[in-house]
Amino acid sequence: MEHSVELRNVTKVFDDDTVAVDNVSFAIKPGEFFSLLGPSGCGKTTLLRMIAGFEKPSSGTVLLNGKDITDTPPYKRDVNMVFQSYALFPHMTVYNNIAYGLKMKHVPKPKIVEAVNDVLQKVKLTGLEKRRITQLSGGQQQRVALARALVNHPAVLLLDEPLGALDQKLREQMQIELVNLQEQVKITFVFVTHDQRESLTISDRIAVMNNGNVEQLGSPKEIYEFPATRFVADFIGTSNFLTGIYRGEENGLKRIVIPGAEVWVESPQEIETGEHVTVVIRPEKLSISKEPNDIELNSLQGVIEEIIYVGTDTRYFVRILANDMVLQVFAQNVLHTAKQRFTWFDQVYVSWDPGSTSLIKE
Ligand code: ATP
Repeated sequence: MEHSVELRNVTKVFDDDTVAVDNVSFAIKPGEFFSLLGPSGCGKTTLLRMIAGFEKPSSGTVLLNGKDITDTPPYKRDVNMVFQSYALFPHMTVYNNIAYGLKMKHVPKPKIVEAVNDVLQKVKLTGLEKRRITQLSGGQQQRVALARALVNHPAVLLLDEPLGALDQKLREQMQIELVNLQEQVKITFVFVTHDQRESLTISDRIAVMNNGNVEQLGSPKEIYEFPATRFVADFIGTSNFLTGIYRGEENGLKRIVIPGAEVWVESPQEIETGEHVTVVIRPEKLSISKEPNDIELNSLQGVIEEIIYVGTDTRYFVRILANDMVLQVFAQNVLHTAKQRFTWFDQVYVSWDPGSTSLIKE
């Protein structure tokens, strides 16, 4: 299958020697909702701007539908961009904002009317076409920016933190609407965000970036459940890290010796005996009990040091007796929490399944 956008060994070094993007290669599938996720300054926007053509790679190749577009100017690329600032014409009407690009291309008027009405309906703005931008809410302006970018059916839509200016509730609502919109229009979306929850919610696949590099590329589930690097495990969600040494495999499980204890991990990863590794355990994969857990292979004894109630779940910080490290356990609050089962200084066992962890080579 042909790729929609493909980057081959793309590097961007700015004039002041800042390496914003460092030898990045990946391919985006047609019709995919793809996001670039990473902390501020990791190079997401620079990468997006290179796909748009606003920035030229220092080296490497950008392809669109299999064609090299590295030297193609932005206006000749079948790509549109939605900016966080929306960049709308404030005193023009909604209709004229959306129609602007088509008018510039001298598209016949009936075709413009049809295209604008169609896209207005898709972004749920029908009825507001005569309003001026200054008379719209932030959320409505956001929809106009989307409509304007979609009206000429580009092959790829680039979105640079488009929901950044919206309040949390509206932002979550727009995330779902964006996913629905993308399913309707079937255009490849490349979405930049530094919000890990947002990217898990909306994406088919995510490229997690750090320092100009792609640390991991995968589905939200792969990235969350099996983070490939310590950075990914730390940046997305919360993780417990157990560092130790791999001591061989028994019955399909890997034995990792950590200070004061040993743990078992089910992982296909190839590791040499004696190698240093880190076991990553998500807090919600851990359970706590007052009695020893006879079912789970992995069980460490500890003392509850802190309890935080956060509505959906309760977070326990348990200091492990064997090595003095603190593990975070997130226990879901089913029904209501009047009868909290544990309290401060309770002696407990923290247990988990060997298959619910991932292994990172140090
Ligand atoms: P944010 O989420 O804050 O927008 P980002 O991940 O999009 O961050 P970029 O804007 O791509 O990051 O910036 C990557 C690096 O390149 C940063 O160190 C930034 O300071 C630098 N940079 C970006 N644009 C330029 C420029 N025109 N000249 C010099 N350095 C730049």
